[in-house]
Amino acid sequence: MSKLKTQEHTPVTLSESLIGSLKEITGADNVFYDTESLEAYSHDETEDLSFPPQVVVKPDSTEQVSAILKLASAENIPVTPRGAGTGLSGGCLPLHGGIALSLERMNRILEIDTTNFICVTEPGVIVQTLQEAIEEKNLFYPVDPASRGSCFIGGNVAENSGGPRAVKYGVTKDFVLGLTAVLPNGDIIKTGGKLYKDVTGYNLTQTLVGSEGTLAVITEILLKLIPLPSLHLMLMIPFPSLEQAAKTVSAIMSAGIDPSALEFMERDAIIASREQLGTHIDYDDAAAHLLIELDGNNQDLIDERAEKIGEIAMAHEALDVLLAESKQKQEELWNIRRSLSEAVKSRSVYKEEDTVVPRDKIPELLSRIKELCARWKIASVCYGHAGDGNIHVNLLKDDLPDDVWNNGLDTMIRELFAIVVDLGGSLTGEHGVGYSQREYISIMKTPAELAIMKRVKDAFDPQGILNPGKIFPTE
Ligand SMILES: Cc1cc2nc3c(=O)[nH]c(=O)nc-3n(C[C@H](O)[C@H](O)[C@H](O)COP(=O)(O)OP(=O)(O)OC[C@H]3O[C@@H](n4cnc5c(N)ncnc54)[C@H](O)[C@@H]3O)c2cc1C
Repeated sequence: MSKLKTQEHTPVTLSESLIGSLKEITGADNVFYDTESLEAYSHDETEDLSFPPQVVVKPDSTEQVSAILKLASAENIPVTPRGAGTGLSGGCLPLHGGIALSLERMNRILEIDTTNFICVTEPGVIVQTLQEAIEEKNLFYPVDPASRGSCFIGGNVAENSGGPRAVKYGVTKDFVLGLTAVLPNGDIIKTGGKLYKDVTGYNLTQTLVGSEGTLAVITEILLKLIPLPSLHLMLMIPFPSLEQAAKTVSAIMSAGIDPSALEFMERDAIIASREQLGTHIDYDDAAAHLLIELDGNNQDLIDERAEKIGEIAMAHEALDVLLAESKQKQEELWNIRRSLSEAVKSRSVYKEEDTVVPRDKIPELLSRIKELCARWKIASVCYGHAGDGNIHVNLLKDDLPDDVWNNGLDTMIRELFAIVVDLGGSLTGEHGVGYSQREYISIMKTPAELAIMKRVKDAFDPQGILNPGKIFPTE
């Protein structure tokens, strides 16, 4: 698919002396302004968007980040922090050109403290690499976005990422104990520490978690770790209807069972994955599947909970209950789940929304989405982290005429979000507002709420140079 070239504002001109200063800070080898590099750093994984920066800079220390921001604030140059570029809301797109500040060279795990159960890391470490290093020490960092093989831990902190295991363990914010961050004027701040308790002053750590690169650049992260569970069991359960699958989600949780993942996958998502990976799963023509993981250290307890889940599922008309006990079979199922996003998107022009509602409202959310799509005569494919109410909705253009899609999409999205808000939900559970959802934020945030958020932004970034154009609607 060709990239839609666009620039939100006429970019400022970067002087030769500014480029020279950037080279002095990071070394000339880490400053790029050739066409290929600017194109590579102009997009992320959000639909078909491309906003090139004028220069890409790759610092390798907090001090270098600070020097870059001092320079940028002195010259009023926009700076957009960038992790691995796997974001799904256009957060790292340099809408105003300027400097793309890539954290990819800051990729060192600084410490895994096995006494205090804390990991200290730079932001550019790939999440899976971090998890594997931690697991070698018999400890566990459970937050595992489906993109864990490529996204960075700094991006996860900036987006407050979730993933399948959030249902049991929580999201990124639940594990961040402290940060080193550089303010837009170049000042370096440290928040929190190797502390499980700390109420000295405002909680700046959690102000920065989920701030989408708009308040400060995160250069060091302290993460809480927990003991590594030794046993895992997975179940794959096909259902004849979306409704029965969705009702089973609440029934499992109400029975006091604590799955470490409870994922929902609609038939068309499974089919797209089968076509992409060439893998076959039983009952792949069932309307929906639940993928459920149980973990712990007591096999009898896990078996007992699996049996109970089976009973609940069969009482909700499940077609079967399939067990995956071997590590290999479990990996195969996770591969299918992690492939869904890309597989579904390869089918057609699409728009993905990251809806989240209270868990017991998922059946109603799904049925109202299907009604909405039937009225607009478009296909939708839904999957996601049903255990915590987070359903990714892919609206697919397929053969719809371009003008109907282009003219109708904004209204369709507004109607979808009106349903979500009506059900007590939120526009985004884990992908963030970024660029692609900014015009919709006022569907759920009041003017007073937006005004206080804006004042927080202004307090951190009075010049408005850090990741401009994100989160807030255009006026
Ligand atoms: C196939 C696929 C599956 C996915 N599955 C999930 C999932 O299960 N759960 C989930 O939550 N997300 C998921 N995502 C979304 C994405 O991977 C996450 O949002 C991730 O956290 C982005 O990390 P990144 O390093 O790629 O950040 P980027 O995309 O580079 O940046 C994201 C935002 O963070 C800011 N940022 C990055 N690094 C820093 C820093 N050091 N300091 C300050 N700001 C910074 C950027 O400015 C931007 O606003 C998925 C994406 C894909 C493509």
